[in-house]
Amino acid sequence: MPKFFSTVTVKLSEDELKSAYQEYLSHPMCDVMNPMSFNAFKKVPNLNVYVDMKCLNCHHELRTHFGDYALDMEDFTTPFPLDWCPNCGLQHLIPKDIYNKLTLNVLK
Ligand SMILES: [Zn+2]
Repeated sequence: MPKFFSTVTVKLSEDELKSAYQEYLSHPMCDVMNPMSFNAFKKVPNLNVYVDMKCLNCHHELRTHFGDYALDMEDFTTPFPLDWCPNCGLQHLIPKDIYNKLTLNVLK
């Protein structure tokens, strides 16, 4: 569990799991010669964990999968994810909890 912001865990139906699995199969990071089985895929940690993100620049909000961010945070030992905003194109997308803390401090 990340320390500085909260994540949302949702229960996925079998259909949602199947479409997530299709997404995984078409993902460029997927090893196409040796993809994991659907059963193995269902046991992937963070599969059903989402995080609410918000853009510091344009205030665009979205809910996205936490799994990829979790791997990045481990690789680069960052305290929270920083991503490109699909709305304004700047790398200003951060977890909404962090956004709230930052903007609160700015207004003080
Ligand atoms: Zn933005």
